[in-house]
Amino acid sequence: MSFTVINEAFLCDWCGEQNPPSKGTCRNHCRNCLCSKHVDAVFPGDRKSLCEGKLVPIDAYPHPKHEIVIVHKCEQCEKVIQNKKSEDDNFDAIIALMKNNAETIFF
Ligand SMILES: [Zn+2]
Ligand SMILES: [Zn+2]
Repeated sequence: MSFTVINEAFLCDWCGEQNPPSKGTCRNHCRNCLCSKHVDAVFPGDRKSLCEGKLVPIDAYPHPKHEIVIVHKCEQCEKVIQNKKSEDDNFDAIIALMKNNAETIFF
């Protein structure tokens, strides 16, 4: 089984950020506002979903094996999708997401 890794420059539909191709990882969300579009049905990069709703970041947490994982939720169909952060993601936005959920993790 294989899936296509999409790693191309794209213009964010929501904040207008011009995202260059990511180094090393597959970029699947905007590095500035962290939003994405619901285009993958099953595998990252499969582009099989017909939803195309806005994927909004709702949570972020450090993954024991990878680096930080960002949790996205689709505004349209409410599907929850987890993505690895890219190295040039807006780290302040990620920290803010982690703080939002700090109570449930640490207390
Ligand atoms: Zn954006
Ligand atoms: Zn969706």
